[in-house]
Amino acid sequence: MQQEKKDIRALSKDELRDFFVSIGDKAFRGNQVYEWLWNKGAHSFEEMTNISKEMRTHLETNFAINHIQVDQLQKSQDGTIKNAVRLYDGLIVESVLIPTETRTTACVSSQVGCSLDCKFCATARLKRMRNLNPDEIYDQVVAIHRESMLYHNRPLSNIVFMGMGEPLMNYKNVLLSIDKITSDEGLGMSPKRITLSTSGVPKMIKKLADDEVRFNLAVSLHSAIQETREQIMPFAKSFTLDDLRDSLEYWYAKTKRIVTYEYVVWKGINDKEEDIKALVQFCKYIPSKVNLIEYNPIDDGEFQQAKDHVIDQYIAALEKNRIPVTVRRSRGKDIDAACGQLANKQ
Ligand code: SAH
Repeated sequence: MQQEKKDIRALSKDELRDFFVSIGDKAFRGNQVYEWLWNKGAHSFEEMTNISKEMRTHLETNFAINHIQVDQLQKSQDGTIKNAVRLYDGLIVESVLIPTETRTTACVSSQVGCSLDCKFCATARLKRMRNLNPDEIYDQVVAIHRESMLYHNRPLSNIVFMGMGEPLMNYKNVLLSIDKITSDEGLGMSPKRITLSTSGVPKMIKKLADDEVRFNLAVSLHSAIQETREQIMPFAKSFTLDDLRDSLEYWYAKTKRIVTYEYVVWKGINDKEEDIKALVQFCKYIPSKVNLIEYNPIDDGEFQQAKDHVIDQYIAALEKNRIPVTVRRSRGKDIDAACGQLANKQ
């Protein structure tokens, strides 16, 4: 069965070269196969016509090429496209293409389901089934890039890790996929155009800083008051705001790069003066900006977006303290492609 064989795309170029040497062939055979897999996007060993028939059979017996398949493509009235992506083992994740006037953004998944338990997020209800492999993440980007060319006639400009899953709970594979996305052998995209969004896993934020990553970091804060944050994001009992602050200070000291805080304002949860004050205070720890996200309802109304005048109070307080703030409108709501809605209807 396919899934019992090792996915050949999990091997780096060096590992492929070593493999061919280990079976008595030449190292450059590794380069040839690598080129088929990554530059030419081969879906089978059959296609690799400059590799001998014997060797192709040998590879076929020992390895699989586990490409993703876009099962279902839904288009929103606003141009947003959502892909249901079938993985080699039949599990499904979703990725989204979001076109605006100035950008074309791919929103990709990093896990099947999610390790964390945010109460307001549809994906959290699925629980984590497994981590995605680096190539499964990379393939989502390639698929979205193709759709961007096909339907909007322009290449992808940005990538956000804001689909299903917590990217920092699949650290190694997410970073490998970004290596591929940014390398010339992959898509050659600048890391400045990539944003990893995390619910806030302090230890791994420090690791990002130690690994000197060059992409952007966004943190889903939603409350700067420990008790409130625990209510809506129960994992925050273990990953406290104090630890988060500490990790962000570490990140800034090492990278000198500003962090974006994502924040939804909900009625009766974080809509009071003290909530605003706490956010302003938190934003002063390191240079940061705030992205106020529109809430996308996923249930029977336990969570409701606060009224506009509360959002305006947030904006006024942040601006008064010279903290940049943007308000993000939802996209693709009609096809359940907006933030937090992925997996709503599976
Ligand atoms: N696990 C990562 C990335 C996936 S969620 C993270 O938490 O950052 C991407 C963003 O959507 C996060 O900011 C998350 O808090 C937000 N989100 C989740 N559910 C939402 C909902 N129902 N409405 C609006 N935003 C939501």
